[in-house]
Amino acid sequence: MPILRQISQLGHPVLRGVAQKIIDPAAPEIQAIIDDLLVTVADVHGVGIAAPQVYEPLSLFIMASRPTLRYPTAPVMEPQAVINPEILWVSDEKEDGWEGCLSIPGLRGLVPRHRRIGVRYLTREGAVKEAECGDFLARVFQHEYDHVQGILFVDRVESTLNLMTEKEYERSMR
Ligand SMILES: [Zn+2]
Repeated sequence: MPILRQISQLGHPVLRGVAQKIIDPAAPEIQAIIDDLLVTVADVHGVGIAAPQVYEPLSLFIMASRPTLRYPTAPVMEPQAVINPEILWVSDEKEDGWEGCLSIPGLRGLVPRHRRIGVRYLTREGAVKEAECGDFLARVFQHEYDHVQGILFVDRVESTLNLMTEKEYERSMR
């Protein structure tokens, strides 16, 4: 049975290390972590979660975009595991967007991200997948990819003036 995991919080070193590549995606312990991540991200209404956010320093994350209270316009997708992600190319064009993070509750930041990216990763079945992502999905991928590199969205804001509490964000964007 998958279990709900505790989410590591800003300040914990597991969020700041470069995650290890996964040698065997089919290994039962890796499959179990994927199942735990899937139930955990659904429980907290996230659109993505990376393994270091559940104290597992592995190069693995879940993309689970769907409209939520925090991201009402997010596209719907079947949640999927992304193993050993690589970003192959990025568009010159960037876009600013307000991001939050399960590991930094209560805070939002205006983060510039590449509008389109080319990616390669392994699926949970171990298949190599190459894809192009745009807009919100490109943003989620870049945010989660940063997690496996030990980077957080607060490192990407261009100024502390581009930080806002969740409460103030909701008030001002309404
Ligand atoms: Zn995050």
